[in-house]
Amino acid sequence: MDIRVEKAAPDLLKAKPDENSLGFGKHMTDHMFVMLYDEHLGWHDAAIKPYGNFSLDPAAMVLHYGQEIFEGLKAYHGKDDRIYLFRPTDNLQRMNISAARMCMPEIPVDVVYDALKKLITLDKGWIPKVDGATLYIRPTMVASEAGLGVRPAKQYIFFIINCPVGAYYPEGFNPVKIFVTDKYVRAVAGGVGNVKTGGNYAASIMAAVEAQKQGYTQVLWLDAIERRYIEEVGTMNIFFLIGDELITPPLTGSILPGITRDSVLRLTKDWGLKVSEKRISIGDVLSANEKGTLREVFGTGTAAVISPVGEINYKGQICTINNGKTGELAQKLFDELQAIQNGYTKDPYGWVVEV
Ligand SMILES: *Cc1c(COP(=O)(O)O)cnc(C)c1O
Repeated sequence: MDIRVEKAAPDLLKAKPDENSLGFGKHMTDHMFVMLYDEHLGWHDAAIKPYGNFSLDPAAMVLHYGQEIFEGLKAYHGKDDRIYLFRPTDNLQRMNISAARMCMPEIPVDVVYDALKKLITLDKGWIPKVDGATLYIRPTMVASEAGLGVRPAKQYIFFIINCPVGAYYPEGFNPVKIFVTDKYVRAVAGGVGNVKTGGNYAASIMAAVEAQKQGYTQVLWLDAIERRYIEEVGTMNIFFLIGDELITPPLTGSILPGITRDSVLRLTKDWGLKVSEKRISIGDVLSANEKGTLREVFGTGTAAVISPVGEINYKGQICTINNGKTGELAQKLFDELQAIQNGYTKDPYGWVVEV
């Protein structure tokens, strides 16, 4: 499939935001990639074009029943003006797993990967250069067919938009406080919690709002059935360092299989740590804390890379971790992953690709 390239007219290029106050997801770049699907033509009309609005029929199926999937990855600015992506085809393959679950068409990974590299190259002036800041990439697919029947749509729009995002920790690591909810649940095995579809996030907002009212930045989700076993936190996977064992919940169908999670498992195993993917209950975490063996807790995800947790609130019981400070392992993982992603250190895993 050919990818048409329609560049924005020079006088329509946007002013670039200040790299020191980017925030997250506020400023979109000058161009986007768009490709259409319909049941007879398959994927067609692939184009890189100026960033702009879509025209959608008000009956477009995504607006009613939420047939939508997305991904999140980043482009990094490295030495000598090089541009790197971190495990990009893993994101595109994961998107196809999400597509299958949501009865949406698979994307041609080679075409989309090629389009992504062309788009990043065209908008490379948007990749921030300040330490820790990156270009966040958002591939998305929505059902565009007009109709109010509940069934798989026959037409879709796939697009990629990009936005420069600031360093998650401009003043160094700041451990987050998380609130364990036993009132709401995020996902259940057999549902869609293991794929990146918009409905999961819509369903999570209320718990997040209530946690924020109490001064907590994120929600820690427990399993939907017993409300005991740890699942994940906000939009991150979670790890516990208890004694000498690093523990993360297994992928049993209700947890998103994070690429950062997978990278952390790989690195820590190679560092010789004892690493387990196993069920861990909130009771296990609290009792480890009482015994003094709970050494570190941290979340993992593309946006923050590593997010140390300084406090957990479960039913009003406050559990302070590592005196609310960032642990050694979290710091080491953050430094190593960032160095690999920006091409500052050798990548023995083949994770990083130059654009
Ligand atoms: C995206 C996401 C993650 C993290 O996945 P990464 O591939 O590491 O970015 C974890 N949990 C949820 C619910 C997510 O949406």
